[in-house]
Amino acid sequence: MSHPAIAIDGPAASGKSTVAKLIAERLGYTFINTGAMYRAITWYVLTQGIDPADTASVNQLLPSIPLSFGKDGSRSTVLYNGQVLNTELTTQEVNDHVSTIAAIPEVRSLLVERQREYNTREAVVMEGRDIGTVVFPDTPFKYFVTASEEVRAARRAAEGLTDSIAERDKKDSSRATAPLTQAADAKLVDTSDMTIEEVVDTIVADITQKLA
Ligand code: C5P
Repeated sequence: MSHPAIAIDGPAASGKSTVAKLIAERLGYTFINTGAMYRAITWYVLTQGIDPADTASVNQLLPSIPLSFGKDGSRSTVLYNGQVLNTELTTQEVNDHVSTIAAIPEVRSLLVERQREYNTREAVVMEGRDIGTVVFPDTPFKYFVTASEEVRAARRAAEGLTDSIAERDKKDSSRATAPLTQAADAKLVDTSDMTIEEVVDTIVADITQKLA
């Protein structure tokens, strides 16, 4: 029996992580943060003193990267030598370079494989940029969560984080491989004027209806 895969895509700081986590809790599914996976590779590349734009060197490093992708309770984790990575993944340096790393086709195919693996074992709510278009193109549960640029910038600032949102979105939308785009069959949810609860309720209601 196959397990449901809920795809939540959208631009940076659209609130999709918060929403995806809550949807996963409501449904009892596992929450998978795929951005953390791209961020972890970026972090590791930077610690090795490799220029993220040097695609050949990044690709050479890929087979031996000591990162693993696990789970803590009902959430995905990224581990480096057995230690869960956390604050390392949201530094300004990682923000500045993650879109460059995420544009590398070899990085994407490695991570997409890992992402699909989670769903072979359990139902997942997975958030990212290409979940509905590439990772699970056949799932009937696709949501594109967005908000105006002002609202998104304000949300990041409220978290006390500086982030190159506009720049990342531009790079993520214009890359050749798996660009950030709304799947043709995804439901658009503009959260600019919605509370988190309203967004979660809207999406859970749609999922429940489709599952029935
Ligand atoms: O979701 P988050 O903002 O943490 O993602 C960080 C970066 O990882 C994105 O800006 C994008 O470059 C990349 N990413 C991606 N595909 C995904 C998830 C994240 O390219 N599925």
